[in-house]
Amino acid sequence: MKVLVTGGMGYIGSHTCVQMIEAGLEPIIVDNLCNSQQEVLKRIEVLTGKKPIFHLGDIRDEAFLGSVFNQYDIDAVIHFAGLKAVGESVEKPLEYYDNNVIGTLVLARSMRKAGVKSIVFSSSATVYGDPEVVPITEDSPTGATTNPYGRSKYMVEECLSDLFNAEPDWSITLLRYFNPVGAHPSGIMGEDPQGIPNNLMPFIAQVAVGRRDKLSVFGNDYPTPDGTGVRDYIHVMDLADGHIVALKAVGETAGLHIYNLGAGRGSSVLEMVDAFANACGNPVPYELCARRPGDIAECWASTEKAERDLGWKATRSVTEIAADTWNWQSKNPQGY
Ligand code: NAD
Ligand code: UDP
Repeated sequence: MKVLVTGGMGYIGSHTCVQMIEAGLEPIIVDNLCNSQQEVLKRIEVLTGKKPIFHLGDIRDEAFLGSVFNQYDIDAVIHFAGLKAVGESVEKPLEYYDNNVIGTLVLARSMRKAGVKSIVFSSSATVYGDPEVVPITEDSPTGATTNPYGRSKYMVEECLSDLFNAEPDWSITLLRYFNPVGAHPSGIMGEDPQGIPNNLMPFIAQVAVGRRDKLSVFGNDYPTPDGTGVRDYIHVMDLADGHIVALKAVGETAGLHIYNLGAGRGSSVLEMVDAFANACGNPVPYELCARRPGDIAECWASTEKAERDLGWKATRSVTEIAADTWNWQSKNPQGY
């Protein structure tokens, strides 16, 4: 099965490509490298013994996408390409809507032209906004998003749902990720954020490796067991496997398929700090600070639907998440 993977050089895409190759699928990567490195291709080859096909280009370039679709007999698309920094999206809303929304529309149009009607889209738990109840099920309300990034994900979900309503022979799978973290257990591949990390785990990892002095813990007065924010951290390898399972289970069946991909457990900031300290063998210095504007207290997934329909469940623990992140960060202190 040949699968066009947009954004396949990025964090989640690269791990998914490795697992796809291991599962006998053939990824064809399209990426403009705006947030990833050419080196990733070599790492995929080191891990799998196969160098995937890679085309450098932008998904908003219809002629470029058309030429890729013309060259291969593509069966399905996994669509990771997009911009993902919440804070930056507030500063640059036009760039975010252009890349994430227009990019997806151009991709969908190119798919239709090529007769490819199966897409798996990287959505996010952010579409649920501040949930009224946890764990969050797929039928919880969506749309009360708090920033342009979140709105771009919600808009794409709406666009693709409307596409399905108009053309019900499509298979459209919306995967709502919770908090992807961790790295390939080899330490050869992992998350390599540019600049100061926005997210908790890469920040902790950079503190542990000595690139930053200490972690700022954003808020310890939330209504949670230890007062710090609670999230659903899912190992990127579990997430990668989830895509393959989804593609096989529903990717060839017409329908609008929506699944949460989370671990189904909530962990606090301080629990993640402790897990990391155990993994690296040293305390992780931190200070308690004010809440970060826009943050919610807690958010974790109900994974029942994915378990029931796809037979998929995250298997990797927080201990493994911390160990694999540390293995990657200590072997690649400056990233790729
Ligand atoms: P990433 O930035 O590491 O990967 C995205 C890749 O897409 C990068 O390689 C980038 O160069 C490429 N790209 C961006 N715009 C492009 C364009 N116009 N044309 C071609 N390539 C383009 O991000 P990631 O963490 O791997 O996330 C992948 C997807 O999952 C994104 O859509 C993101 O919004 C979504 N997601 C991520 C998280 C998370 O916490 N990492 C959570 C929920 C959803
Ligand atoms: N967080 C923190 N310090 C940081 C980054 C994040 O305390 O430097 C907290 C944040 O307030 C939230 C949790 O860690 O409670 C996860 O934040 P992240 O940005 O990784 O994910 P998201 O907020 O998107 O769920």
